[in-house]
Amino acid sequence: MNKADKQRFLPVSGNVLPRFAGIPTFMRLPHVGIDEAKSAGVEIGIIGVPWDGGTTNRPGARHGPRQMRDQSTLMRNVHHISGLQPYRLAQCADLGDTPVNPVDLADSLARIEAFFVKVHDAGVVPLSAGGDHLITLPILKVLGKGRPLGLVHFDAHTDTWDRYYGEYKYTHGTPFRRAIEEGVLDPKRTIQIGIRGSLYTPEDKDWGLAQGIRVIEIEEFQALGVEKTVAEARRVAGDGPIYVSFDVDGLDPVYAPGTGTPEIGGYTTLEAQQMIRGLRGLDIVGADVVEVSPPFDPTGMTALVGVTMMWELLCLIAERVGRQKGRAN
Ligand code: MN
Ligand code: MN
Repeated sequence: MNKADKQRFLPVSGNVLPRFAGIPTFMRLPHVGIDEAKSAGVEIGIIGVPWDGGTTNRPGARHGPRQMRDQSTLMRNVHHISGLQPYRLAQCADLGDTPVNPVDLADSLARIEAFFVKVHDAGVVPLSAGGDHLITLPILKVLGKGRPLGLVHFDAHTDTWDRYYGEYKYTHGTPFRRAIEEGVLDPKRTIQIGIRGSLYTPEDKDWGLAQGIRVIEIEEFQALGVEKTVAEARRVAGDGPIYVSFDVDGLDPVYAPGTGTPEIGGYTTLEAQQMIRGLRGLDIVGADVVEVSPPFDPTGMTALVGVTMMWELLCLIAERVGRQKGRAN
């Protein structure tokens, strides 16, 4: 082990401290404060956004990050298929939770955005745990500023609705419409996978399609299968910078019952893992897993599903960072 490796942030091994012991951080990595992230050399920051004030139906996703940290103690160091070793490829740390204000939506969005400005200025690639899906909007506003990002979006819902309750523009059903309007998301490089469920009106589908978003409803996913869906995602996303957003309700609720807006008839956990693996090599500049709502799944399995998707994403992001730094796996 060379000097650089000795300084590398590594998870606490389950062979040294049992997985049920100690203070739970994401993946059992060191916790580094956001103001120290740059000087500490953090390259990938795992971040909790404990906020669900954009939820229109069943809340609870504010509790997601804490339970996902706990379940993340089950993750180990080497990806069993790709062989990727993220902690050799990149300096990864838990940057804690963003500030939020549970009684004020606009203030929360401002606080979350300010936190991600610090993350971005520190040169850190964020991998975040929600929170409801509105948390993705302030993240995209930071990462997509001046360079509209592509998006691979796993979800049962398009989240491109316009307004709720009359004039209200900011909910977990609207983040991608707002992001396109803000010019931080490129609809022509956006693909949504797993869309299903009843609509409010027949016109609900029109806006996103008119913007050029590629929508793969669950029936098309079933027809295409994982391999062709991945090929389509890669075609749409292209070579430019992309964000990956994974709403756990894209999965069948059999696999992820702990979420606010379940829709039956989704993909399996393994299909989702295989689709994420299929994004290997793309220019992923950030990712999140959202809508884990622990109160609806006291077993913690949905949180385990969520952090396992984060692990899959972490491996891809670490490979990209490692390539930029000239490190081998
Ligand atoms: Mn969503
Ligand atoms: Mn959803």
